[in-house]
Amino acid sequence: MAEFTMELNDEQKEVRDWLHGFAADVIRPAAAEWDEREETPWPVIQEAAKVGIYSLDFYAQQYFDPTGLGIPMAMEELFWGDAGIALSIVGTGLAAVGVLANGTDEQIGTWIPQMYGDADDVKVAAFCSSEPDAGSDVASMRTRAVYDEAKDEWVINGTKTWATNGGIANVHVVVAVVDPELGSKGHASFIIPPNTPGLSQGQKFKKHGIRASHTAEVVLENVRVPGSCLLGGKEKLDERLARARERAKAGGERVKNAAMATFEASRPAVGAMAVGTARAAYEEALEYAKTREQFGRPIIDNQGVAFQLADMRTQIDAARLLVWRASWMAVNGKPFTAAEGSMSKLFASETAKKVTAQAVQILGGNGFTREYPVERMHRDAAIYTIFEGTSEIQRLVIARTLSGMPIR
Ligand SMILES: Cc1cc2nc3c(=O)[nH]c(=O)nc-3n(C[C@H](O)[C@H](O)[C@H](O)COP(=O)(O)OP(=O)(O)OC[C@H]3O[C@@H](n4cnc5c(N)ncnc54)[C@H](O)[C@@H]3O)c2cc1C
Repeated sequence: MAEFTMELNDEQKEVRDWLHGFAADVIRPAAAEWDEREETPWPVIQEAAKVGIYSLDFYAQQYFDPTGLGIPMAMEELFWGDAGIALSIVGTGLAAVGVLANGTDEQIGTWIPQMYGDADDVKVAAFCSSEPDAGSDVASMRTRAVYDEAKDEWVINGTKTWATNGGIANVHVVVAVVDPELGSKGHASFIIPPNTPGLSQGQKFKKHGIRASHTAEVVLENVRVPGSCLLGGKEKLDERLARARERAKAGGERVKNAAMATFEASRPAVGAMAVGTARAAYEEALEYAKTREQFGRPIIDNQGVAFQLADMRTQIDAARLLVWRASWMAVNGKPFTAAEGSMSKLFASETAKKVTAQAVQILGGNGFTREYPVERMHRDAAIYTIFEGTSEIQRLVIARTLSGMPIR
């Protein structure tokens, strides 16, 4: 187990500085253009692939960093550059983690390389769970996967929505219902290989923020995939379903939900993205407040402005500490007895919303225009309190964990 430390080691500092350089030199200068175009920034993803940032190797190296700080540090730097472009770069990693967490070694080896492609021909992947009627309430999912034993194939039908990279992905990971009687315990994840007939992109959403990241519906009509595309395999699924049925028969005894434990471990990464956006806006506001003069002096000479900056910085640092703590806990297998992962995501995402709004205010009229990046950062920050569980759902999870009660 790695000792908890608040100081990055030399190797981590080197990676952080390298990522910061990429964020400052490649991502930030491209941010306004791709925000306006509302398209996936393929050339930037390709640049990231060329230098090794867009790759499974890089992601895995950070993911398995024993201090737990690899992923939050990487997310903070990339999202400091720009949230929409950074999500286009790390979105594939979120789908890859679904395979790493649930797949067999063979599935990991077969599918993850196809998710990334290579530097000359980059590909992306999508993770599709949300549906039009199943957002926060994942248990009401309707996409159905039925096993065709004669052919050893799964037949999948349904509509997914809000999928990052949905429809443009080379590989889609789709969560579907395999046993409707079991609620969220009756779900399983499937790989949909490239060019599978029956999978199509529905509506592509025009968004308020993170507009360089592609978000769309994914329609699945009689999609047939081989049995080998069920993540984890049929035997493991059958065992898991049998256990869930037994528990349901025994009166639905409350069990530790594996999906919840996974969320506790993945949510700090989203918190780190929010810290990156918040820090970027704070830095812009600090610089502006020191140079903009009104009434014959820099506006930071007014306590009304300076105290806002003091609060912004304090909250960003507090958010980072919560994120680092939860990431360290996840890597070291510590139980999340107070839902510390959800706590970090809740605080960091609310901080990003607040801090970016304050930055717009400090820049005055300029903050309200697209000439300055805080306007975009403010729009981008709104996503953090929505995806990977809304702030209300984080509070619900924290409250349930603290009380042990089924708080509704
Ligand atoms: C840009 C973007 C990218 C996304 N990427 C992906 C992706 O790649 N893959 C994927 O599967 N999903 C993705 N999502 C979906 C995202 O996770 C959902 O939008 C989110 O879970 C909320 O679901 P919903 O939009 O249906 O809102 P709803 O669940 O309908 O919630 C609406 C409001 O009601 C509140 N609410 C709901 N239930 C309760 C409750 N019990 N108590 C208190 N308040 C409650 C919510 O907090 C929210 O404020 C993405 C979404 C966006 C916007």
